[in-house]
Amino acid sequence: MPQTLPPLDDLVACHQCDTLHVAQDLPENARAYCQRCGTILMTSQPAAMARILSLALTAFIMMIAAVSFPFLTLDAQGLHNATSVLDAVLAFNKGFAIPLAVAVAFFIVVIPLIRLGALIYALGPLVREQRPRAGAKRAFGLAERLRPWSMAEIFIVGVTVALVKVAGLAAVTVGPAFWAFAGVVIITVLKDQMICRYSIWEALEQ
Ligand SMILES: [Zn+2]
Repeated sequence: MPQTLPPLDDLVACHQCDTLHVAQDLPENARAYCQRCGTILMTSQPAAMARILSLALTAFIMMIAAVSFPFLTLDAQGLHNATSVLDAVLAFNKGFAIPLAVAVAFFIVVIPLIRLGALIYALGPLVREQRPRAGAKRAFGLAERLRPWSMAEIFIVGVTVALVKVAGLAAVTVGPAFWAFAGVVIITVLKDQMICRYSIWEALEQ
């Protein structure tokens, strides 16, 4: 006898391994894990949404700081050079490298900011238990779709590797923007781990 599938709305796919699970109402402060790989599928913590919103706001403000403060200073043989993230992007401003500058700016600054902005826009009213804003679903969907394109963490790993290499040649001082950028990366990872996509979609559907 063919098995009947539950309605599509009741299915949750694990975002790591795509295993399908049937969603259930969780008791408060409970978590549901993927049966196959153990990733958190659903959480039912009423405070979680507010926590995610505050993390997103913090990351947004830190990102602005990361772009505006000095990122690195280099001292070598009497030469002093201070660089901001914008300088790093604008380093590729000649001829064929211009598309590279645009891509770098998008991947490390613009897309992370769009993701955070969209999340803040979509979650703001939900935390205050108001009706979702117009286009909130589309904004949250955009934040989710852009996730693989947000590469701030790759930038920070690249910078760290470069710093280790340069450290022998010049005195390197990391500026406030470096720490702000590292903060953005850590907060974004935390936020993406904590987020319960299922309950956010549920709340946005209402
Ligand atoms: Zn899984």
